[in-house]
Amino acid sequence: MNETVAPGGAELRARAEIDLAAVRANVRALRERAPGAAFMAVVKADGYGHGAAPCARAAVEAGATWLGTATPQEALALRAPGAGVPDGVRIMCWLWTPGGPWREAIEAGLDVSLSGMWALDEVTRAARLAGRPARVQLKADTGLGRGGCQPGDDWAELVAAALRAEAEGLVRVTGLWSHFACADEPGHPSIAAQLTRFREMVAYAEGQGVDPEVRHIANSPATLTLPESHFDLVRPGIAMYGVSPGPRIGTPADLGLRPAMTLSASMALVKHVPGGHGVSYGHHYLTPGATTLGLVPLGYADGIPRHASSTGPVLVEGKWRTVAGRVAMDQFVVDLGGDEPGPGAEAVLFGPGDRGEPTAEDWAQAAGTIAYEIVTRIGTRVPRVYVHDGNDADEGSGT
Ligand SMILES: *Cc1c(COP(=O)(O)O)cnc(C)c1O
Repeated sequence: MNETVAPGGAELRARAEIDLAAVRANVRALRERAPGAAFMAVVKADGYGHGAAPCARAAVEAGATWLGTATPQEALALRAPGAGVPDGVRIMCWLWTPGGPWREAIEAGLDVSLSGMWALDEVTRAARLAGRPARVQLKADTGLGRGGCQPGDDWAELVAAALRAEAEGLVRVTGLWSHFACADEPGHPSIAAQLTRFREMVAYAEGQGVDPEVRHIANSPATLTLPESHFDLVRPGIAMYGVSPGPRIGTPADLGLRPAMTLSASMALVKHVPGGHGVSYGHHYLTPGATTLGLVPLGYADGIPRHASSTGPVLVEGKWRTVAGRVAMDQFVVDLGGDEPGPGAEAVLFGPGDRGEPTAEDWAQAAGTIAYEIVTRIGTRVPRVYVHDGNDADEGSGT
């Protein structure tokens, strides 16, 4: 769990400011795109680096009735009283391995995903011990080729076994669900194929007698671009943090979303150096002439990608600067071109862009990755500073 500090934090080495009003506004904007569907806020991986519990609470305030995580441990943490998630909120987790905490999950009232017979065997055994049925959701592989049960004989076997367990009072099949491979590439032929396969697999299960509360397949890009994929529930993750699912879907502004995380640091040193001075490990940057260098106290241990060496953008005193040479474990350098901001001057790596700062998408491009990875990997050494916690009564309508 990340360290959480009070707003302000200007004295910190570095901080990831998390705007919870932006999270709430994003959840509302996404709900408007899927008015007929329930909203599952995906808060796995510590809320994509933004803090799972605060973002879960913000999402619930904005109308989410479900939370989604990958691991059962992440889901159980949200059921802990300290997380502040209301009891009535459903929590689903989908990444199980043999010997997982099935009984704790049943006792915590989680919805658990099953992709295969081993998982059904383990959950029914735990349900007998717990003396109450497990809420299970059967996951279909409609074409992603990752988790999920294969169509055909495997699906028939899983559905039949789940129905037998339901008849015995050991499980309640609450959902049928799947996940897209290429929803961030509008028009990709796999999208329509997966929707067709999903409808077939749902129809088969329902024909056998499964009566799910929810059928769902839509992640952020599908929530934003594919109304026919919304079914009973949508599961956005990245978009609720105000980050675009990908360049083909649009910028956050195009999508009516506001980036929630601003990553900044206090410059640790500014100094004059002569021309021809090698900078950072390997001397991959040589100062082109006499200049000033600024030391930014964030490195790959904080999640700054080493692949952004010589490319990552940083806003210092209104100007974009570029990482000079290699990103090190704890720090990197920017060439300030003779400017002399004082020590402690703010270096903004990314944020919503209001002040002209780069965005997480800019860092993704600089590092050859996706913006999901940029925000999610910001490390635990960077304190999260929450702003606009609480409700929106004092923020005016429309926020
Ligand atoms: C991570 C995840 C999501 C959310 O995906 P985004 O692209 O971040 O919206 C939804 N469903 C599953 C199964 C996931 O693993």
